[in-house]
Amino acid sequence: MADQNFPLTGFGSLAIHGGHEQDPQYAHLTPIFATSTFVYDSAEQGMRRFSGEEKGYIYTRWGNPTMTEAADKIAAMESFGLTDGSGNPLAIKGYLQASGMAAISALFMSTLKTGDKILSHYSLYGGSQELMDKLLPDFGISAVIVDLRDLNKAEEALKADPAIKMIYLETPANPTLQCVDIEALTKLGKQYGKIIACDNTFATPYLQQPFRFGVDFVIHSTTKFLNGHGTSIGGAFLGRDIEFMNTWGGKVHKMLGGNSNPFDAFLLVNGMKTLEVRMERHCHNAMEVAGFFEGHAAVSKVNYTGLPNHPDHYIAAKQMRHPGAMLSIELKGGLQAGINMMNRLRMCTRTVSLGTCDTLMCHPASMTHYSVPKEKREQYGITDGLIRISVGMENIQDIIADINQAL
Ligand SMILES: *Cc1c(COP(=O)(O)O)cnc(C)c1O
Repeated sequence: MADQNFPLTGFGSLAIHGGHEQDPQYAHLTPIFATSTFVYDSAEQGMRRFSGEEKGYIYTRWGNPTMTEAADKIAAMESFGLTDGSGNPLAIKGYLQASGMAAISALFMSTLKTGDKILSHYSLYGGSQELMDKLLPDFGISAVIVDLRDLNKAEEALKADPAIKMIYLETPANPTLQCVDIEALTKLGKQYGKIIACDNTFATPYLQQPFRFGVDFVIHSTTKFLNGHGTSIGGAFLGRDIEFMNTWGGKVHKMLGGNSNPFDAFLLVNGMKTLEVRMERHCHNAMEVAGFFEGHAAVSKVNYTGLPNHPDHYIAAKQMRHPGAMLSIELKGGLQAGINMMNRLRMCTRTVSLGTCDTLMCHPASMTHYSVPKEKREQYGITDGLIRISVGMENIQDIIADINQAL
């Protein structure tokens, strides 16, 4: 295995080697440690393990070597090239979760209590929005939702409501791709002594590192680009306060029981090794697809942050390496045009979710949002002719050929 002290200067090298520890049996890949518990040589060793005096695994809900490798790889990527206040490499601690939603739950439950509020943006992943709207209020925690692209509104909200304890960011946001300025909002939040958390699922650490701008926590749905192959649901909960993550943050993670499992962790580790090359190809193809749609007569709008006419183009360019692989278009023909396009696809995949090798297309008006009344959908920007695309890694001429014939 790679010498742990060899300085890796490239993100792609880190994605491959980061987080790996030599297996005692010399297996090349970290095996799937399919075991619920770990054993002790003696009662005394058990005592040392439980007291934390001796490093070692105890019970898989608390930790498992395959899960550790995945969590450490994500932490290494999120902190790649970053330094702390004293110029030392930034240390990040992460826990692998059963899903992105489990990661968000661990974040909220370990940092908030009754009476606290979360300040967030109105465009968020549906599950995060529902958690804030429907479940957290039962525990006395509520959300203040404003347009966080407007820093004045964000500051007004912070001034007006001292109960706000956390600013929760998701950028680019699912499904609108709206971006918020991580650096500016973190600076503002810190002036008011707030916790800043960021959902980095759409960007991945290759395109964007929220810890660079001083955020306290990053969460991921690893289900998407990090896994990259659509083989499992997963999440990660990461923090820069190592002391907190090793104590209360880790404790809450263990108590909630939203841990991942060795098999999914194994799939994730191997998927993440190719993150850099995958994202390069995804983003390159997305730019080409956006350009193709821009010139097409059946399309009234192309929503891609890589295009200079996108309202969040400059924020995305400031904080992301590339504009990502997600885009949406609006078809002039509305609902029927959307249904027709979906039905005519011959190579691209008709499905929800995102971040896999193949190009995925979803027509929210006839699929995910079919049961939402039209007026309500349109408030969220989900019009009849909206098609969302997770641009895959096929050869670009084939993607464009399929889209062209379907249009
Ligand atoms: C999918 C997604 C989630 C939820 O992740 P799961 O793994 O499905 O629980 C959270 N945030 C964003 C931005 C997502 O795309």
